[in-house]
Amino acid sequence: MVLLVSLCFLSSAMAASGPVLAVFAHPDDESATVGPLLSRYAKEGHDVYLIVVTSGQVGDSNTDIPRGDQLGAAREKEARCSCKALGIHEPYLLRFMDGSISNWETIPKIRERVREIIEEVKPEVVITFGPDGLTGHPDHRTVSNLTTEIFQQRSKLTHRPGKLYYVAYPESLFANLPPEMAQSAGRIGLVADEWVTTVVDASAYLEQAWNSIQCHKTQWPPQMMEMLRNLSSELLGGKVYLRLALQDASGQAEKEEDLFD
Ligand SMILES: [Zn+2]
Repeated sequence: MVLLVSLCFLSSAMAASGPVLAVFAHPDDESATVGPLLSRYAKEGHDVYLIVVTSGQVGDSNTDIPRGDQLGAAREKEARCSCKALGIHEPYLLRFMDGSISNWETIPKIRERVREIIEEVKPEVVITFGPDGLTGHPDHRTVSNLTTEIFQQRSKLTHRPGKLYYVAYPESLFANLPPEMAQSAGRIGLVADEWVTTVVDASAYLEQAWNSIQCHKTQWPPQMMEMLRNLSSELLGGKVYLRLALQDASGQAEKEEDLFD
């Protein structure tokens, strides 16, 4: 009996391995994009972390909280609420200024902080936006860009994560959107289906994702929250679509020698 119990413990302890790190620009970027996935891996025993680069100080304000530091503080609380709802670790709040990160001075500072956190939490998998930033937001694009750069410069890392994924909504799923969704989803940077490498079924975690969406009250009026809920549950069916952007190729048998092989 003792042996059985300890074996069960061993197998469940061995089932999960490898921390997951999501790197996004604003509080709320995580909820409707990868929320269910983060919640699933946390539940399965992975350490799951979220970096939020800015505090969203100049984002929408659907409450009477004025934009600026006060909105930033409110959104930091919303980010904590979201992480709790998803069952992942407390967020790393880097507190850079919303809308102002794409410049010579700020990019190296963010890169340094993200690198430090990678060394600290030792992720096996990192997830961020694709080059389109999903919504085209310049902050999203910058975060995608610098996260990819950190991945490429592996000699600067002691801990080297194995895989980098981009959020990748497939074109086919958005081809015939209902009108109420078409307007809000119109800006989404879609990815051709053939480039989508990874589909994670996280449909059992839609409730956690919904609770996470509801944390971001300063950003989304109830109607918008419902739209995001439908996007996750109906349109995406609780699946999270990703594109494997980079992975360690050192184990590859040989390098290609011809572009048309
Ligand atoms: Zn954002």
